Amino acid sequence: MIDVVIIGGGPAGMAAALVAGRGKKEVVLIDEEKPRNKVTKASHAFLTRDGVTPEQFREKGRRDLARYTGITTMNDKVVSVKQEDDYTFEVETLGAKKIYARKVVITTGFKETLPTIEGIENYYGQSLFSCPFCDGWEMKDESLVFIIDTKEGTHIPALLKNWADDLVVVTDGKKIFTDEQKKELMINGIKLIEKGIAKLEGEKGQLKQVIFEDGEKLNRTGGFCTPTIDQTFPLIQQLGIETGDNGFVKTDGMGRTNVAGIYAAGEITGPSQLIVSASQGHMVGVGMIFDDSAANFRNV
Ligand SMILES: Cc1cc2nc3c(=O)[nH]c(=O)nc-3n(C[C@H](O)[C@H](O)[C@H](O)COP(=O)(O)OP(=O)(O)OC[C@H]3O[C@@H](n4cnc5c(N)ncnc54)[C@H](O)[C@@H]3O)c2cc1C
Repeated sequence: MIDVVIIGGGPAGMAAALVAGRGKKEVVLIDEEKPRNKVTKASHAFLTRDGVTPEQFREKGRRDLARYTGITTMNDKVVSVKQEDDYTFEVETLGAKKIYARKVVITTGFKETLPTIEGIENYYGQSLFSCPFCDGWEMKDESLVFIIDTKEGTHIPALLKNWADDLVVVTDGKKIFTDEQKKELMINGIKLIEKGIAKLEGEKGQLKQVIFEDGEKLNRTGGFCTPTIDQTFPLIQQLGIETGDNGFVKTDGMGRTNVAGIYAAGEITGPSQLIVSASQGHMVGVGMIFDDSAANFRNV
């Protein structure tokens, strides 16, 4: 029996592993290595790591973990987690490994589905993004398009104006904005096109044109869009872990879920960024050590 299994090896999982390993815990981190940012060429806004590729970021993280003898990393997928009793979880992987641990940390992030527009996947992560805080600087003062197909993103045009004045909002034929919101877009110099989109065109990841179903072409040099998101750990309901209305796991400030012994951090708890996910993972490590220390102290 080990102390903790961490499911997911992005910034949240690695940060939790680092703190737990430094707290003399025996840790196994299991990662399927399919993070949602793998499509992008560079990661930004993580102090001391600004501009690294997602692969470099992970490699540096793994190197930090490798310095601690109590931390083992495995490239595998967790397919089952069973609670044996109050103090034991059985974690099973696709590679048929069974690991028994006193605590489980879920840091599996979420999966995104891009708007269904032909060609969009050729540009996502290269010249089309979803988070202006991650990639707004790289897109600053460009001719931007904002592709929106959900009412949840209606606040984003105002945000994007922070980085670029030349902004066109396209809805792929959907009626998303209210009359009041349309007026606001107009007053702020943002063109709204509610026609259906036939495809996106460009070259080597560089978006060049939005082609509408009626043949009209809109020249653009980059943009943003609103993917829909799903958390990527189907066992949450089965384990009785409480989630909010949007499906994200509810935790306290130290990543504790409502199930004793199960913690969560990073984007499984809500949309985030690398540094925020890492700090949440750090707090899970701290929380686990606090919880263990309190229990051990009482039991002497
Ligand atoms: C195009 C794009 C660009 C981005 N750019 C930036 C940026 O510049 N700066 C920034 O701060 N943020 C950026 N982000 C956001 C950033 O990637 C996320 O905030 C961050 O990766 C979330 O960390 P996490 O640890 O919660 O999840 P992830 O990094 O997604 O890690 C989750 C891991 O869990 C694994 N996993 C899932 N299920 C299982 C399972 N059953 N068993 C084992 N492993 C499993 C996944 O394969 C994955 O490796 C970007 C995102 C995208 C999509």
